[in-house]
Amino acid sequence: MFGDMISNEEVKSFLQNEIKMGKKSGTYLFHGERGSELMEFTLAFAKALNCSEEPLDFCGRCDVCLRIDSGNYPDVEVVEDPTGIKISQVRELIYKASSSSYEGRKKVFILKDVENLRAEAANALLKIIEEPGAGTFFILTSHSLNIIPTIISRCTAVHIKKKSPEEMGVTSEEYEFFFGDVGEIERYKKSDIDLSHPVSYGDIGEHIKNYVKDGDIESRVKIQKSLRDFMGNRKFLEDIEKIYFAEEIYRGSRDRNIAEGIMYEGILLNNDLSKTERLLYIKGMLRFPVNLQLALKMFFSEI
Ligand SMILES: [Zn+2]
Repeated sequence: MFGDMISNEEVKSFLQNEIKMGKKSGTYLFHGERGSELMEFTLAFAKALNCSEEPLDFCGRCDVCLRIDSGNYPDVEVVEDPTGIKISQVRELIYKASSSSYEGRKKVFILKDVENLRAEAANALLKIIEEPGAGTFFILTSHSLNIIPTIISRCTAVHIKKKSPEEMGVTSEEYEFFFGDVGEIERYKKSDIDLSHPVSYGDIGEHIKNYVKDGDIESRVKIQKSLRDFMGNRKFLEDIEKIYFAEEIYRGSRDRNIAEGIMYEGILLNNDLSKTERLLYIKGMLRFPVNLQLALKMFFSEI
């Protein structure tokens, strides 16, 4: 039920109102900074549009709600690609959106991380989201509004705010450590990890390797601590030590999303605002087929 969800009261009443109005179709853009629960709200809306028990809400228990939660409901489809949704995926989506709904209710297409959409895929998408057929809903999600304006102008924008430390039941220090990331804070709360125990920056590669292997929150915390150790000492480090740090990250994983995440957190921890633009530029290079190791070295030499 919407009433059980913590935070974003105004979003919840907006979404319920959209359902109350009995809209036949729609295109929405759910956006919020990293760590905001975009999928929680996206799925809640998809469930509320389809739930068989609650006409203006979602029960969370009926067959439809449970299948949507487990990704097994044919009329709610999530389209995603870590490197950005491709034009072939958009073409498939256009085909599916034009066929009728399997269960005779509402078809919901959730397009994740549209900030990574390539231009040709975005252009192909424009037509279909402009006027979705009856019973068809598109929900686009994005962690930034740095998207092609013609996409934004076709959507009803819904801003999802991050939960506050109080809403999460943690101290502001714990909250800041995880940059307010709800998923990580929930996992941390279930663990007995001590955030104050320091970790050396030189070991970041090992912690990344462990994290890639088991996705464990403890390894995640150690990556964070290594990065914080580096950031705290960076003014005293020689260039060669900074390059070593970048190489360690690369040794830990060649996954661009992991590298981008670490860069993003580095930017947040960097209090020298004169460098922010340059650092964002280097981080942005990862969207293009540039050499990852080189980009990491550039980034951590500059920081
Ligand atoms: Zn239900």
